[in-house]
Amino acid sequence: MEKIFNNTQVAFSLKSDTELDRAYFLFKMIANQPLVRIGTAVTNFALKANLPVEGLIRATVFDHFCGGVNEVDCLSVVDKMYTKGVSSVLDYSVEGKEEEDQFDAALEMTLKTIEFAKERLAIPFAVFKPTGFGRFELYEKLGDQQTLTREEQAEWNRVVARFDLVCKDAHSKNVALLIDGEESWMQDAADDLVTEMMRKYNKEKAIVFNTLQMYRWDRLDYLKKLHEQAKNDGFFIGMKLVRGAYMEKEMARAEEKRYQSPICASKEATDDNYDAAVRYMIEHLDLMSIFAGTHNELSTYTLMELMQEKGIKTNDDRIWFGQLYGMSDNISYNLAAHGYNVAKYLPFGPVKDVMPYLIRRAEENTSVAGQTSRELEMIKAERNRRKGK
Ligand SMILES: Cc1cc2nc3c(=O)[nH]c(=O)nc-3n(C[C@H](O)[C@H](O)[C@H](O)COP(=O)(O)OP(=O)(O)OC[C@H]3O[C@@H](n4cnc5c(N)ncnc54)[C@H](O)[C@@H]3O)c2cc1C
Repeated sequence: MEKIFNNTQVAFSLKSDTELDRAYFLFKMIANQPLVRIGTAVTNFALKANLPVEGLIRATVFDHFCGGVNEVDCLSVVDKMYTKGVSSVLDYSVEGKEEEDQFDAALEMTLKTIEFAKERLAIPFAVFKPTGFGRFELYEKLGDQQTLTREEQAEWNRVVARFDLVCKDAHSKNVALLIDGEESWMQDAADDLVTEMMRKYNKEKAIVFNTLQMYRWDRLDYLKKLHEQAKNDGFFIGMKLVRGAYMEKEMARAEEKRYQSPICASKEATDDNYDAAVRYMIEHLDLMSIFAGTHNELSTYTLMELMQEKGIKTNDDRIWFGQLYGMSDNISYNLAAHGYNVAKYLPFGPVKDVMPYLIRRAEENTSVAGQTSRELEMIKAERNRRKGK
């Protein structure tokens, strides 16, 4: 397969010199582990103490990783990316809320983004997080097969109703809907519910997409079993494939509670597992649609190669590549330039509420043993190219 991801001119074609310099400065800062640790603590404290730090956060990390504080803010970014063929998934990234009115607010926001998607080719998917619609502990209790109290059962019925409402709306508007994956100890209940939605709304094609976190060694088997159900019951499978974002938490909990870790034994094992799931889905594309959410170049090439081998068109609407806004533009923009379907998650929300998301991004880009991050390498290469070096 031709290697296409090193073309920094295509990757950063939308970035002015000033924006590129800002990105360079940002990644240089977050490559520094102690600085990220101290910065996170100071920022959290400052926000809690109502100190005026929002402006600073906006001018640095926020504007790099987010589309704005609300969905309308995002539209200029959406339109700009689409001029290069890169689509957007508006991601309301407010996390950790546990109240009924907040679940209803997330529901309303998801319905709004489905409407946005219906109206715009540049927004092919809507997305939400299961814990955006219901309490974490409730999912956990159900997953543990514990009996719910009468109030909890009523609460769960409201969660089911929220899922059903957005899936039904997405189905009626023909908008595909991604449902994020979270911690394994709440995921069983979410999986059952999402499968119920697939059974109901994926009769003609994949509208509802669940997420498989391939750092879990049990997920390929899960996919195969789901495939059997889909064949027997006549529904299509939509699946976002990711490696998984909660590895440290998963391992720490398994150790603390003394159960077998759900995480693959090594990074290589996760990589193999991811690629095996990609392969399985491509082999069964008659019933499956895939959204490959990854910044891993090798996995991306693997999927591209499989498409080529099978004679699948680059823009087959059952196959999407996905990256996060502010990261791996070298993958997104080069894929789009070669005619593949690609969408970037574009997070939005009040600055204070998207902090957990921003902290995860900063930590993810922190250097391991002094290595320069790939993002930084790419930005450096493009700055040099523009200076004629
Ligand atoms: C569009 C998009 C949507 C996403 N949605 C979700 C979601 O719904 N839920 C979610 O959990 N995450 C989600 N993620 C994040 C994703 O799970 C990864 O954390 C992130 O993309 C990094 O993995 P990677 O495939 O890009 O590549 P890489 O950088 O190659 O892989 C890093 C990942 O490998 C795994 N890993 C690292 N070290 C080890 C080890 N020692 N043993 C085993 N495994 C290891 C971890 O999962 C780690 O995150 C999403 C990412 C994208 C781009």
